[in-house]
Amino acid sequence: MSTTQIESNVKLELPAFANEPLFAGCDDPQVRKAFPHAIAQVRWQLGRDYPLYINGRDVVTDEVIDSINPADPDEVIGRICQAGTEEVEHALTAAHNAFQTWRDTSPAERAEYLVKAARIARERIYEYSAWQVLEEGKQWAQAYNDLAEGIDFLEYYAREMLRLGQTRDMGSYAGQINQYFYQAKGVAAVIAPWNFPFAIACGMCSAAIVTGNCVVFKPSNRSPVVGHHLVELFRRVGLPDGVFNYTPGRGSVMGDYLVDSPKVGIIAFTGSMEVGLRIIERAGKTPDNQLSVKKIICEMGGKNAIILDDDIDMDRAVTAVLYSAFGYQGQKCSACSRLIVHDAIYDAFVPKLIEAARKLKIGPAEEPDNYMGAVIDRSAQQKILEYVELAGKEGNILYSSEVPDKSFYVPMTIAEGITPDNRLAQEEVFGPVLAVMRARDFDEALDWANSTRFALTGGVFSRNREHLDKARRQFRVGNLYFNRSCVGAMVQIQPFGGFKMSGVGTKAGGPDYLLHFMDPRALTEQP
Ligand code: NAP
Repeated sequence: MSTTQIESNVKLELPAFANEPLFAGCDDPQVRKAFPHAIAQVRWQLGRDYPLYINGRDVVTDEVIDSINPADPDEVIGRICQAGTEEVEHALTAAHNAFQTWRDTSPAERAEYLVKAARIARERIYEYSAWQVLEEGKQWAQAYNDLAEGIDFLEYYAREMLRLGQTRDMGSYAGQINQYFYQAKGVAAVIAPWNFPFAIACGMCSAAIVTGNCVVFKPSNRSPVVGHHLVELFRRVGLPDGVFNYTPGRGSVMGDYLVDSPKVGIIAFTGSMEVGLRIIERAGKTPDNQLSVKKIICEMGGKNAIILDDDIDMDRAVTAVLYSAFGYQGQKCSACSRLIVHDAIYDAFVPKLIEAARKLKIGPAEEPDNYMGAVIDRSAQQKILEYVELAGKEGNILYSSEVPDKSFYVPMTIAEGITPDNRLAQEEVFGPVLAVMRARDFDEALDWANSTRFALTGGVFSRNREHLDKARRQFRVGNLYFNRSCVGAMVQIQPFGGFKMSGVGTKAGGPDYLLHFMDPRALTEQP
């Protein structure tokens, strides 16, 4: 067992990082018992009020919104206090004050909080997953794996901070001693999406905290109860007051205020291209009373393609494409939304895909037989249905499934005849709509795959080594997968994130990620 150790007031020895085991499958006897039990337990707790959490205290506001179950909008998951600009200012001040001491705590001490939080999340993994099943409409596996990823971020960033927290000897010149080390940037505004409601929020917050920054966390208003799990964790591990603050609220009401604040030194955002670009633009304006240039970590959307070459194992590709396109209702930034099929196999492959899609059941995510559930809310449903209509105009709908008429369901939709100039081939849909494109040959498929503004994930199925080598060089996306699905990146082994309009190149769960949260310093001492 390899260990990491640094000298400080807290000594921390950790075994080498290993990924948390993923979901064992719905047929696993422990899962079969634990999930229904956890869902029943969570149902007893529905409808509670959730205050803000600022400077170590609960803060109640007059304005409250209901968070609801997407599969049953009458079921209220929780009632969430809403931060306005006054509460955001309060949280920013608390974070700013806490930063004066938190910045100088040792990396080992900060890392220890993360490891303790990981331990608690691991103990409560079924309970926390059950909340996601009900608040976000996630299938058991999707919810469980989100928790596993969040735990991975805590464990991985703890170890990364131990590595980066060590002062580096840069060598000597003319008898001088030269050293290199990092310091935190300041107050971090963390703005998170709802689709990986624990993992992404936990990853961004824990990275900020372990590097010595203090956090004002704004969860999505579509996943605020799961967002509150971070309050529970960081409170239980005894994080000092003001280091982590929870301020749910409407992005349209308090988002600009948080982003514009001169107290903010760093913004960690994950969400849509539209909101991400707005944040980048606003954060680029620097008022006189702002003391540092804001650093932006910005992960945005995708329009991901899987290419099928002419020599593939079709059954394997069918399973992977369906999972990539329709897992969690296609509500993943990494989801496959374009399937580019080589002309030579098109007529054999596409009917197989449709036949397999027809067998997939649609209904509430809490029932393990259902492959697809409801989408997150009514506005998402309406937007996706508009794209389904567009699919019929720009192409030809091959399959559009039946859906339950209650709640926010949309049909699993597969459309062919889509070409790169169509909107369906260019715009992120964020739902279960798959555009199938027929390419003349592998080179045309590659050109089409690269033909959007996004560059997040991609996939290639091929047995041709030359083609795979070519794709390795020329399929220009952040995360490229050969002969498997294009979703489900794992911390450390598959650092995740894109470029172009998919992000600014900061790979979450990778060896460079924490560097974005710190400023490097150099010291020279003449004896
Ligand atoms: P979103 O609408 O952009 O919202 C993301 C966050 O920004 C939410 O907390 C939202 O708050 C907040 N927000 C909205 N307006 C704001 C403003 N003016 N200032 C500051 N914050 C504001 O995205 P989403 O619907 O939650 O998530 C889906 C999107 O995220 C998709 O495009 C998906 O591809 C992308 N995504 C990317 C990655 C990645 O790693 N690249 C991972 C996951 C998701 P409200 O909830 O109050 O609106």
